[in-house]
Amino acid sequence: MSNDIDNKDNEINDSENSLDEIKNNKDHDHKDTEYEDICYLCRRPESKAGKMMHIPNNICICGDCMQKTFDTFNKGDNPYIQFMGVDPNMFKLNGFTRIQPKTQKVKKKNPDTEKSPSFDRKKVPAPHIIKGKLDEYVIGQEYGKKVISVGVYNHYKRVGAEKSKNIEIEKSNMLMIGPTGSGKTYLVKTLAKLLDVPLAITDATTLTEAGYIGDDVESVLSKLLQAADNDVERAERGIVFIDEIDKIAKKRNTNSRDVSGEAVQQGLLKLLEGSQIEVPVGATSKNAMVPLTTINTENILFICGGAFPDLDKIIKARLNKQSSIGFKADLKDKYDNDPNILQKVTVDDLREYGMVPEFLGRLPIVFSLEGLSRDMLVRILQEPRNAIIKQYQELLAMDEVELKFTKEALEIIAEKALEKKTGARALRTIIEEFMLDIMYEIPKDDNIGSVTITREYLEGTGGPVIAMRGIDNPTSQKSITV
Ligand code: ADP
Repeated sequence: MSNDIDNKDNEINDSENSLDEIKNNKDHDHKDTEYEDICYLCRRPESKAGKMMHIPNNICICGDCMQKTFDTFNKGDNPYIQFMGVDPNMFKLNGFTRIQPKTQKVKKKNPDTEKSPSFDRKKVPAPHIIKGKLDEYVIGQEYGKKVISVGVYNHYKRVGAEKSKNIEIEKSNMLMIGPTGSGKTYLVKTLAKLLDVPLAITDATTLTEAGYIGDDVESVLSKLLQAADNDVERAERGIVFIDEIDKIAKKRNTNSRDVSGEAVQQGLLKLLEGSQIEVPVGATSKNAMVPLTTINTENILFICGGAFPDLDKIIKARLNKQSSIGFKADLKDKYDNDPNILQKVTVDDLREYGMVPEFLGRLPIVFSLEGLSRDMLVRILQEPRNAIIKQYQELLAMDEVELKFTKEALEIIAEKALEKKTGARALRTIIEEFMLDIMYEIPKDDNIGSVTITREYLEGTGGPVIAMRGIDNPTSQKSITV
C-alpha cells in the first residue's frame, strides 16, 4: 500500500518535472528571438551551424551533430546495435533538413540595414553638451575634455552618416597621454555612460601575440561583446579603451621575440582600422570549445591611454635641439620645469618611444591630460557629482550627522595625495585612513549633530570638532579626540 503511495508521489513529481521542462523550453523559445542558440556538441552558434534541435534541459544540438550521431548508430555494422537487436532504420532522421556545410555562410546583417536604423545620429549630443556633462564629473582637463567631446561627436556622426555619400569620413580613434591617476579611465567611463554605449576597458599588458600565453588581441572585442550583453549590433557601436598602451612599445635592445610589445601593436592594427574579426564569445581565446561570432570594428571607437613615463625626456630633447640653433637660441633648461610638456608631444616623439608608425597612423587624435595640481585635487575632493566627500557626507547623513571639512583640511589632504604621486587615486586612500575612526565612533552617540574635520585632526595634533544635536551655539561645541 505504502509502495503504491510512493509510486503515485513519484508520478506526480515526474509530471511536475516535465511541466517545468516544458515551461523552461517555452521561456527558451521566448528568448530565442534575442539570443543565438549554441550547439551543445560543436559549440557553434545558430548563425553558423544553422537550425538547432531543442532537447530538454535547454540543450540545443545542430543539424550536423545530430546527423553525425545518428549516422554512427545507423551503420549496420555497429556491434552495439546488433547486440541489442535494434533495427538500425529507426535512427533515420526524418523531417529535419540537413544543412550543407557549403551554405553555412554567416549571414549576419542585411547590407541595407547595416547603417542600423536604431541608431539616430541626431540623438548624439553636440560637443559642448558632451563637455558640459563631463564637467559635472571630471575636474580640470579642459583641453582633453574638448578634444574627446569633438572626437566622439564626429565619430558618431560618421556612424550615422549615409554610406552612399561620396566622401567617406575616416575613423577618429584617439590616443590619450596622461600621468597615472589623472582621470584617463574615468573620462572614458563617464563618456560611455553619458552616451549609453557599451564600453570595454582592457589592459594592453595582458595582451600577447596569438599563440603565446596571455590574451589574444581579439579578447578586447570579446569584452565589448560581453558589455553589450552579447548583442553584436550594440557592440559594433561601442567604445574600447585600451589602457597602459605605452607598455606595448617596441622593446629596445632585445634579441628575443617581442611577443607582448611590437607584435601586439601589429595585432591591434586590423582592429583599429576596421575589419571583420572573428571573436570568441564568452572567452578570451579561440579554442575548439568556444563559439565564435564576427564583429565589424568599423564603427567601434578605440581610445588608447597610457602614462608614457620618460616621454617628457624625449620631447624635451627634441625641443632643446630645435631651440638651441640660430640667433633665437633658448636656454638649455627652458623646458625642464614645464609642467605641461606632454602637451607638446608629436607623432615623432611617440615613434621614438617605440610605437610603430602604422599603429600611430590609426590613432589620428593625440592629446594629453595635465598632471593634477593641488588646487585641482581640492576641487576633485568636493566638486564632482560623486565626489568622495559627498559620498561620506551621504553616509553620515543617514545617521543624521553633518560632515564638514575646513578649507585647510582639504588642502592638507591634497598635499598628502600629491606626495604619493598617484594622482587623484591617492585621495581615497588618505580619506579612508582617517575617516575610519570617525565612522566607527560617531554612530555610538546619538546626540552628535555634526563633525568638522580640521587640519589639527589630520596632522594628529587635535581632534575633529564635534557639535551636539540641538545646540547651535558654537561656543558649546566640544572637541573630542576620536
Ligand atoms: P588613470 O589616468 O590612471 O586612468 P583614473 O581615471 O583611473 O586614472 O583615475 C582614478 C580616480 O581618480 C578616478 O576614479 C576618479 O575618481 C579620480 N579622478 C582622477 N582624475 C579626476 C578628475 N580630473 N576629476 C575628477 N576625478 C578624477
